[in-house]
Amino acid sequence: MLLLVDLDGVVYRSTETVPGVPSVLAARAAAGDEIVYVTNNAMTYSAKYLPRLASHGAPVGPDRVVTSASAAAVWIHDQLPSVRRVLAVGASGLERELREAGFDVVTVGHAATRMHEEGIDGWAAAGHPDAVVVGLDPQMSYLRVAAAADCIRAGAAFVATNRDPVYPTAQGLRPGAGSVVAAVATAARAEPQVVIGKPGPYLLEAGARLVGADVRKAVMIGDALTDVAAGRAVGARTILMLTGVTTRAMADQVPADQRPTRVAADAAGLEAALRGLAEA
Ligand SMILES: [Mg+2]
Repeated sequence: MLLLVDLDGVVYRSTETVPGVPSVLAARAAAGDEIVYVTNNAMTYSAKYLPRLASHGAPVGPDRVVTSASAAAVWIHDQLPSVRRVLAVGASGLERELREAGFDVVTVGHAATRMHEEGIDGWAAAGHPDAVVVGLDPQMSYLRVAAAADCIRAGAAFVATNRDPVYPTAQGLRPGAGSVVAAVATAARAEPQVVIGKPGPYLLEAGARLVGADVRKAVMIGDALTDVAAGRAVGARTILMLTGVTTRAMADQVPADQRPTRVAADAAGLEAALRGLAEA
């Protein structure tokens, strides 16, 4: 089976390992399951997750982590094949992912600096990009929003990595990519043409494609209802883990048409759920 596995709240919580989950995944990998990690986080370059996952004891190999940034690059290649130049509104991981996918990338920081120093609009400052990819930009500023909005108003495609309203940190909740997307969308008076991350299907589709698997036969394992929604969106089975943001009480209140295939309270529950689905 292909297991599409969310990271935060499933494999680890911040820096702590979720007890037992990495070894359940390692046993499944040893038994022949393919494991691909899927995260909405577009700030970190995907390969940087490899040592982190390995340090938690989770099975991982090269090209087994898909972020909403790497999936955005895949989506643009597929759906907008004429796109060459992309304005990246986000952290360095987004820029690097788009660059490695072969796009001519201009960063929003660069565009904002040119707007300020040369007194030109964002569209000219960014060099007339074909697309704008917006994710969580921890250095978001008024001019950066202006640069992105100028390009979208001038006709560049508007791609959002995800719309998570908030982002959990050790210091509490911070604005997520959805907050940045909302600012750009408001200023551009346009909604994104596509939102790549969960709860939509594209992140999971990109994950399945990495290993040449049929996404409808995958099992999506996540701790949030957005993970379940994404799994349902691609026709996959889903396991909702109660090891992160979702409590048992929340899981019990999910309407029938949004319910996961299985609920697992912990690593033992995950193992049992996977065994059940493998035999089904
Ligand atoms: Mg999670």
